[in-house]
Amino acid sequence: MGVQQNKKSKARTRNRRAQWLKIDGPGMSVCPQCKSLKMPHRVCPECGFYKNKEVVAAE
Ligand SMILES: [Zn+2]
Repeated sequence: MGVQQNKKSKARTRNRRAQWLKIDGPGMSVCPQCKSLKMPHRVCPECGFYKNKEVVAAE
């Protein structure tokens, strides 16, 4: 088992988590059709487009 050599400060830990959330938070993909934020690998909820064609009718 690995043993930690230095104690990480609260600030370091919180900083890292803040950055991680910024990058990997949900909805960080941009729809090529309407340029709105959407979840990656999912049909756009705004315009119903996926892979540059409409797959579900937009509301
Ligand atoms: Zn869209």
